Amino acid sequence: MLKVTNLKVSYGSLEVLHGITFQVNPGEIVAVLGANGAGKSTAISAVSGILPVRGGKIEFSGQDITGRPADDIVGMGLVQVPEGRRIFPGLTVRENLDLGAYLISDKKHKQESLAKVLDIFPKLKERRNQKGGTLSGGEQQMLAIARGLMARPKMLLLDEPSLGLAPIIVDRIFQVIQNIRQSGATILLVEQNAQRSLEIADRGYILETGNIVLEDTGKALLVNESVKASYLGA
Ligand code: ATP
Repeated sequence: MLKVTNLKVSYGSLEVLHGITFQVNPGEIVAVLGANGAGKSTAISAVSGILPVRGGKIEFSGQDITGRPADDIVGMGLVQVPEGRRIFPGLTVRENLDLGAYLISDKKHKQESLAKVLDIFPKLKERRNQKGGTLSGGEQQMLAIARGLMARPKMLLLDEPSLGLAPIIVDRIFQVIQNIRQSGATILLVEQNAQRSLEIADRGYILETGNIVLEDTGKALLVNESVKASYLGA
């Protein structure tokens, strides 16, 4: 569904992705893991058209999307969910959700998406008239994911959904990610929390300072000695 080949991205003259190659098959959860600054957020922002690409190729559903504008890419069903605090704090939950569906013109489709998303996130239903900024960190992350789902994605790119959240909330977030996959969406998950990610991922890639150094199934990476030593605190 997503095929990234030899992707290079720079900030000015500083190259931070040095030609990475990875792919995500339909229905998979794939994790890209790496330490702070490895280039994870850069990789997904390049895939979603937010950052310019210096080299390489990005294909989605068989089409070359390299260099395509971000809203075209959302329209094709590839939707990035930014880290949770990037919701609009001054807008209500409902208004934040409506913004997720900005490319959907059919009112009935919008209503259906909203009803579906509020079913998945009952807390957001309760708080739909509350300002986004008054939600807890976990709820803001849920809102960010819910807003992404409003666009009816074929594939979600999740940027560090567990960042800064208490373990019990992290459990809920990872449960929601599995539910979303069960409902038919494909997921690319970019995370520092290697343990939790590999537990739910079909496959994973390890990104170190702009290079992919290892790829395998989630199960195999969980027991890989170097992954254990560097990322699993063992
Ligand atoms: P984090 O968990 O900290 O977000 P990450 O793996 O997502 O880590 P990136 O945010 O993609 O890493 O950053 C990769 C490298 O690019 C880092 O060295 C970072 O300092 C640098 N970088 C990120 N954004 C910019 C920017 N706007 N301008 C210059 N350098 C940047």
